[in-house]
Amino acid sequence: MKRSGECVMCGGCCESIRITSVLSNLMSQHGSLDEARAYYSFRGIEISYVNEETDTACLELNIPCDKLTADKKCSLNDRPEQKPVICHHYPWFQDNIETCGYKWK
Ligand code: SF4
Ligand code: SF4
Repeated sequence: MKRSGECVMCGGCCESIRITSVLSNLMSQHGSLDEARAYYSFRGIEISYVNEETDTACLELNIPCDKLTADKKCSLNDRPEQKPVICHHYPWFQDNIETCGYKWK
């Protein structure tokens, strides 16, 4: 998949942690997607995105970054050198954040 668009600074990717996992591993561990969803939901983790083509599943933990301000901006925007590397390169995959300015085809 190819990425296009640009960051519109919506803060959506800073409101939770998304961990990309291997879908086929998850299926063999849990037997079905419904089972996996139930298991993770008991821990406050949502399977927010599944892509069979790329064999990926996105596990989303509702843990906002403490550098995110009330108006959904990064408080490190004026000190970009202090941002974690991933913040400069995100997103690597389609994460299904509705407000995100990046699109995937
Ligand atoms: S450091 Fe800034 S850009 Fe990175 S996750 Fe936190 S708020 Fe978002
Ligand atoms: S979700 Fe997308 S548009 Fe919003 S801050 Fe993150 S990268 Fe930028």
